[in-house]
Amino acid sequence: MSELGLFWLLLPVVAAASWYFARRGTELISGARVDRLSSGYFRGLSHLLNEEPDKAIEVFLSIAELDQEAVETQLALGSLFRRRGEVGRAIRLHQDLLKRDNLSKAQKTAALFELGEDYMRAGLLDRSEGLFADLVAAGIDTDEALGRLVTIYESERDWVKAIDHAERLEQLTGRPQGAAVAHYRCELSERARNKGHLELAREELELALKADPSCARAEILLGNLERQAGDHARAARAYERAARVDPDVLSLLLPDLLSCYRELGDNERAREFLTDVTARYPGIAPVLALAQEIERNEGEHAGELFLARELRRHPSVPGLRRLAEIGLRHTNEETRPVLAAIAEVSERMLDQGAGYRCKRCGFGARGHHWQCPSCKSWDTLKPQHRLLGE
Ligand SMILES: [Zn+2]
Repeated sequence: MSELGLFWLLLPVVAAASWYFARRGTELISGARVDRLSSGYFRGLSHLLNEEPDKAIEVFLSIAELDQEAVETQLALGSLFRRRGEVGRAIRLHQDLLKRDNLSKAQKTAALFELGEDYMRAGLLDRSEGLFADLVAAGIDTDEALGRLVTIYESERDWVKAIDHAERLEQLTGRPQGAAVAHYRCELSERARNKGHLELAREELELALKADPSCARAEILLGNLERQAGDHARAARAYERAARVDPDVLSLLLPDLLSCYRELGDNERAREFLTDVTARYPGIAPVLALAQEIERNEGEHAGELFLARELRRHPSVPGLRRLAEIGLRHTNEETRPVLAAIAEVSERMLDQGAGYRCKRCGFGARGHHWQCPSCKSWDTLKPQHRLLGE
């Protein structure tokens, strides 16, 4: 476990222990119990300092277990169980706590909230939804509870409820939720399109762009709808807008955009777009596309020269693979195995690299996801532009 991870794990218990000694220290300063507790507390700290996390956790647990009466200590203990993955134990502790009739309103709220977190961790989403919805209805801890409800509806893919609660959260806290809402709308749009409801799909995208005018995903989906309707000019404009608001989505839309240009017979616009984007985009995808465009218009040799020159400026494995493929077109029997080996090795290197990485949590993925499968953030998986990137 990393030091920082351990820090967060132990934070509630350290806080509870500090609170405990602040409260009890004066009452029982001469009692043997305090001696036992305080020696435990400092032994725990020393384990922590000596990087013995398991021992430290055990010591902190025994401190908290000695003080069954103090609600705050029990809350910290429950939270620690959950963070350690002992969700069943956390649930039992919080349920027992809620049976007490001497809890203050704040303590009861805190226990309900913790129980809601336990249920979420255990995957009992309907139970945690019920608890957080009760808290929202009672007007208690509304912003935190609304945030949890949004997360629950996201995991249940209930996009309508996710939108409703995210909008309430924004109204309540002033924290902008437009970027997430736009993704929920995109999800609804894709669902409608899959069912053949194209008008509904389009309406959702318009609402997505209203929620977040720089939502590249909505522009891409709009481009797809326009293409499906046969309007290649409007589709091309939507794809171009997507690449303008977020150049990182370029490789997702490039084949479709190039196909629109071809349908329109507009080679000049294709060249213009690719030249412009090659200058701004660190990846190799537009260079490869531009080389093909040059090849189509000016012949094989011009395309190859362009590619060789650009690859010196943007060294990359996909570029190397393309060079080897080009070499194979012209090669003789003697050099063919060498070029074939370069092409194959490049291919295998690409199979091993993560094409995308989450800029928030570092999760690596071969393909693109709009929502990070690990930390669940939206739009944080970005293409890798290093040697193995696209
Ligand atoms: Zn992530």
